[in-house]
Amino acid sequence: MGLTLTNVDVVYAGVIQVLRSVSIEVPDGSLVVLLGSNGAGKTTTLKAISGLLATDHGEVVSGQILLDGQDIRHADAAAIFGRGVVQVLEGRKVLEHLTVEQNLMVGAHLRSDRKAVKDDLDRIFGYFPRLPDLMSRTAGYLSGGEMQMLLVGRALMARPRILILDEPSMGLAPILVEQLFETIARIRREEGLTILMVEQNARAAVRQCDYGYVMEAGRIVLHGTREQLESNQDVKEFYLGFSGAEGRERFRNIKHYRRRKRWLG
Ligand code: ATP
Repeated sequence: MGLTLTNVDVVYAGVIQVLRSVSIEVPDGSLVVLLGSNGAGKTTTLKAISGLLATDHGEVVSGQILLDGQDIRHADAAAIFGRGVVQVLEGRKVLEHLTVEQNLMVGAHLRSDRKAVKDDLDRIFGYFPRLPDLMSRTAGYLSGGEMQMLLVGRALMARPRILILDEPSMGLAPILVEQLFETIARIRREEGLTILMVEQNARAAVRQCDYGYVMEAGRIVLHGTREQLESNQDVKEFYLGFSGAEGRERFRNIKHYRRRKRWLG
């Protein structure tokens, strides 16, 4: 069981095809990463799962998206959230005028089990020990790292079955990235949570994953276990080998075409 995408095609505005035959499997209890450069279609894939394409005039035009064996391709975002699929959007969308505490409680808005909500809050403080001191702060003034803690905490307050994270490391200092991914991996272990995570910060993300997919121009071009990805020459060169974006770009220009042909062939 878990989440399965099979041959999913997505089109925006009725004409722009962005995903082509995307197949991804996220088994229960696993941490799966989706890698790829800008514009590859990663966010679109996540929105297809969580039912958020409609707001962007996008549509899954063919293929299947199964959650525990049931097709959710035509379900709306609220229904999918109600089934435990909780997405943390790209770009730190905290409710900036509310306090940290109010933000966390928004995550629990569908729940009526007050005692359990309180227990969950304590558990989340265990993962993010800085959060209790920030409770009365206005969320909009938090640092990037603090906001990311808050967003993951808020998602956990909804008691997700499947947590979907869109580039949680964006804009964070390397040391914070490592810490965040370690915490995410710990949450997965301790909560038995299923996690699908989009990342550009591939090295740190792959280290924590069970399985990963690489996307280019709307297609999955490569996939494998952590060990397979870490030992794959293409993945090492394009995603793991260079920390500086400049080096990666230079390399990409030289070798990209030949490699991609090989992936797609
Ligand atoms: P990034 O890492 O930069 O966030 P991504 O891999 O998440 O990129 P997407 O945001 O899924 O990529 O975008 C994939 C492609 O779809 C891009 O070419 C983008 O321009 C296009 N696209 C995204 N949203 C829309 C939209 N609402 N209408 C038309 N095209 C769109």
